[in-house]
Amino acid sequence: MRIVRTVQAMRHERAQWTGAVGLVPTMGYLHEGHLSLMRRARAEQEKVIVSIFINPTQFGPHEDLATYPRDIERDLHLLESLGVDAVFLPSASEMYPQGFTTYVVPTGPLVEQGEGEIRPGHYRGVATIVLKLFQIAQPQTAYFGQKDAQQVAVIQRMIRDFNLPIELAIMPTIREANGLAMSSRNSYLTSTERRQTAVLYRALQAGQQVCQQAMPADAQAVREAMQAVVASEPEVTVSYAEIRDPETFFPLTTVQAPALLLIAAQVGSIRLIDNFALHTDGTWDTGVIIAEERKADA
Ligand code: AMP
Repeated sequence: MRIVRTVQAMRHERAQWTGAVGLVPTMGYLHEGHLSLMRRARAEQEKVIVSIFINPTQFGPHEDLATYPRDIERDLHLLESLGVDAVFLPSASEMYPQGFTTYVVPTGPLVEQGEGEIRPGHYRGVATIVLKLFQIAQPQTAYFGQKDAQQVAVIQRMIRDFNLPIELAIMPTIREANGLAMSSRNSYLTSTERRQTAVLYRALQAGQQVCQQAMPADAQAVREAMQAVVASEPEVTVSYAEIRDPETFFPLTTVQAPALLLIAAQVGSIRLIDNFALHTDGTWDTGVIIAEERKADA
């Protein structure tokens, strides 16, 4: 496995490959969610590049850039055992050298709602770094997690808007035994908080149940079902519980496929997001709960 720290070296490495290349962008501190993307990339592509970069431009001034969890040694060990071909591990100054000026700025309702409204500038940072990674790694396919549904919509839109020759592969949300969507930031949770967070998954299940009783469902009824479940856990505060169009992120008043049931909540100082997706063909993507012993075990 090559460990590549500069743009020039990554380009050089990439230029020698002729077959299909898959890219898995991450911020590191890898968990089973990340590994599921990499396993799929490994199975589908001739060459797999994983990037680990804690992208400063997607963090707000009061967010956790300085304290974001890191463990590069452990990450590299996991990537090696997965058979990844190259790890792109640039520094912040490599990606944003002095004089850096040009950003990708997604506009309109897609980034003015949901996470975009709560984290102004977040998707500008995401779109900018993802376009840079696409340019450097030149993958045919890029792997992303359904857990960050709005990020998927923003990147899909950017690919269309900029005519990028890249396909997205979207992988289901990998969950802990209690339903909590895996996230590097879950390491901030105390064991009590971790137990309390199970309420998010239960809330999404309650919303799904309302949809399954009668379609098209009344979005207000679905929202209320989700909120009622979260309210049963006083330590968890809902930021939003919404039903949105997966492409435009417009709120839906009646729930018909395709749709996203989205939830965001605060537990202590930690913000958590999660979703269930109802696909056009009527199937649900509710993620995958994995057994404890498989957790972060390549
Ligand atoms: P991050 O390191 O948090 O930026 O995530 C890197 C990639 O892994 C993104 O495409 C995420 O959507 C994806 N990801 C994060 N958590 C999960 C999860 N629990 N299940 C599946 N994919 C995930």
